[in-house]
Amino acid sequence: MWRAFLDRLPTKTALIRWNIHVESNLCVWCEDKEETTDHILTGCNFSAGVWHSISTWFRIPKVFVFSIVDLVVLHKLCAASGHRKMLLQGIFVIASWRIWRARNEKVFRARIRVWSTLLRTLRRRVSCGINIDLNMKL
Ligand SMILES: [Zn+2]
Repeated sequence: MWRAFLDRLPTKTALIRWNIHVESNLCVWCEDKEETTDHILTGCNFSAGVWHSISTWFRIPKVFVFSIVDLVVLHKLCAASGHRKMLLQGIFVIASWRIWRARNEKVFRARIRVWSTLLRTLRRRVSCGINIDLNMKL
């Protein structure tokens, strides 16, 4: 997450900025926008689907994020108790990592994931890891 926050992820746009040749700087998912850290993690329909589903999962108002900075502070703005805020912060970090990982799987292995599958996997692993019903009020 710190690499994303510092804009140090090797996105296509970053690679071009670092004088590394890439065929195209367009997003691997939408192929419509420039692939930047902010676009991959917040602006693309793929990531927006993840954030909106997390909103539904945690029964919080729909999450709209426009930059990595929004992701870092988002848990503070959610109407939730202390433990729930910490849990949301962790979920946002893990989801960001999994979005980046899904991007890399598409680029390097031509493996296409849909955001709903990513979220289902995230939800299952988080539920197992903390062994609580995440729908309950914390
Ligand atoms: Zn995109």
